[in-house]
Amino acid sequence: MCLTRLRLIRAIYINVDCNKTLINILLKMCSKEAAKVVLPPHVLIFPLPAQGHMNSMLNLAQLFCLSHFHVTFIVSEFNHSRLMKHSGTRSTFERYPGFRFQTIPDGLPDDHPRAGYRIMDIIPSLINDVAPYFKKMLIHNGLFASANRRPVTCIIADGVLSFAADFAEERRIPLIFFRTVSACAFWTLFYISQVAGANEMPIQENRMVEIAKTVPGMEGLLRRCDVPRFCGVDDTSDPSLWEVISLTSQTVRANAFILNTFDDLEQPVLSKIVKHIPRLYTIGPGSAHLKSRLGENKVDTSTPSASLWAEDLNCIEWLDAQKPKSVIYVSFGSITTVTREQLLEFWHGLVNSKRRFLWVMRPDSIMGKDGDQIPAELEKGTKENGYMVEWAPQEEVLNHSAVGGFLTHGGWNSTLESIVAGVPMICWSYFADQMVNSRFVSHVWKIGLDVKDSCDRVVIENAVKELMEVRKDEFLERASHLAKSAKTAINEGGSSYSNLNDLMEYIESFIV
Ligand code: UDP
Repeated sequence: MCLTRLRLIRAIYINVDCNKTLINILLKMCSKEAAKVVLPPHVLIFPLPAQGHMNSMLNLAQLFCLSHFHVTFIVSEFNHSRLMKHSGTRSTFERYPGFRFQTIPDGLPDDHPRAGYRIMDIIPSLINDVAPYFKKMLIHNGLFASANRRPVTCIIADGVLSFAADFAEERRIPLIFFRTVSACAFWTLFYISQVAGANEMPIQENRMVEIAKTVPGMEGLLRRCDVPRFCGVDDTSDPSLWEVISLTSQTVRANAFILNTFDDLEQPVLSKIVKHIPRLYTIGPGSAHLKSRLGENKVDTSTPSASLWAEDLNCIEWLDAQKPKSVIYVSFGSITTVTREQLLEFWHGLVNSKRRFLWVMRPDSIMGKDGDQIPAELEKGTKENGYMVEWAPQEEVLNHSAVGGFLTHGGWNSTLESIVAGVPMICWSYFADQMVNSRFVSHVWKIGLDVKDSCDRVVIENAVKELMEVRKDEFLERASHLAKSAKTAINEGGSSYSNLNDLMEYIESFIV
């Protein structure tokens, strides 16, 4: 039986709750082989419990649901309660009878900040505490099978969850790793042990701009300061560094590999990765891809995002009152923290630039905020030109006609969302993959500036003026060109569109 016909029967089977008996009789009339495959594949998706990772993998989950796959999505208890409180995720997924959340502890105490460098605590906690729980949970629940649901067909785990590979190998379940970073950051991490071996790690402040030559294909591009940094590691024998290194090198254990990027954007690096991991599916930009497929399926495309904080929609009204491309949007994602000193440097830089700014200041993002009062000139400058929120509907903001630039930490989701919206960026990177992404924004895609980790007020003021005024047209032209190629990739016939279909066929092949 052809896949299209199968998918149609599955769609009926899943959606017609009133007369499952009738469908079951029909199924019995199919050939034995066909009957075996009528129940859709059941995919277990397990992201690292952090906003960016969850966003990417929830998009993939929804893309699977649109093709009537069954999905069990593992989410930490901590994040699940925030998701249910602040986002429209519950209503989004209620329309898919084949979708279910499965909660799991994250191993951290409730009062752990789960932000800043302390987010790295989650890795040992997952490996030591959550891995045994995960294994028991799957076995105890018969791999989540039920009358109308086959046991898990395959596991799609975040590429940093190595224990998922141990479990999959032990139980002979196909495993696909999904790395939610850019291909260029993944490739750098893939080579990081060689980078460390060649003493090219970003350690000595005075040698930060020296070229790091060890990553193939990036020899003249990467500087030491562009190499991913974790937890401010300043010693290459630090065990936390080697933990990260070993997490990336085990990607080759999976049957296949998914990246949230598109071929036109990262082709040179992708062609290198594929030599090590031949079954590679680039399906991004995930969020835009999802919106496009929802439209194709005549489903409401204005799906709410899966935010862990309450979105302040008043900023859209404020944006409505601003001139086209006049506002710089400022957000450092869900993990970054800044000191009070850094905060004031950014603030002075933005106010002194005299440009309009919309700034996301998460309540947990400022360290030691109970300090001095806000200087009067900043209060005044913000009243005149700025608007601040604790959390914004970011994609809507980036696609608003008033937004002309994005001051970002260069997290991969934010970078991709900005690319899709055709918005040039200033990247102030905080840690991890962001160091590489910001270098690619400025020197490969040339759609913005890389101020790296300097937030000196003069640097910020000049960068804002350069992006929004001096080199505005040049950046906008390239950004709009890249936005077009992102859209081409996710439309029917495009690379990401075809890759997602191939990925689903590959998963279906596990059950036929
Ligand atoms: N985000 C949002 N509202 C905000 C700030 C961020 O919805 O006010 C979303 C953003 O759209 C992105 C995610 O949070 O999808 C952040 O992920 P990213 O990979 O950029 O950074 P991380 O938070 O992982 O550092």
